[in-house]
Amino acid sequence: MASIGEVVHKYIVGGLQLRCPSCEQGAMFDGFTMREKCPMCGVRFERRSGESVGGVMINLVVVELLFVVGFFTVDAITDIPPMYQLPFWLPFSILFPILFYRSSRGLWVTMTYLNGDLSKDPDETPPEVE
Ligand SMILES: [Zn+2]
Repeated sequence: MASIGEVVHKYIVGGLQLRCPSCEQGAMFDGFTMREKCPMCGVRFERRSGESVGGVMINLVVVELLFVVGFFTVDAITDIPPMYQLPFWLPFSILFPILFYRSSRGLWVTMTYLNGDLSKDPDETPPEVE
């Protein structure tokens, strides 16, 4: 049985690194766009339309947690007035979701895999070699 550290490394770090959770080799993204299927093992990353909402929710939760915890931590340990923190936290709350977009979708695909809902198309045939 795998330890928690092994599971976290294998799946969570793999999701953050945008690797296919099934084969751990295929890249999930081509630039900023998620591939339809893994180029190595052929699993379909998002089977139903709207599945990317899960990644958006992960992104939203992480940015809000970082914003709230960061704001109140800085407020508690420094004398910086809240109005002077805004020039940092407002751009952070806009830029971080953009930078974290692919990783949050990768984490969602990993969660889908761990839930047993990531598979190849049933009627998929291997590509013909000419
Ligand atoms: Zn794969």
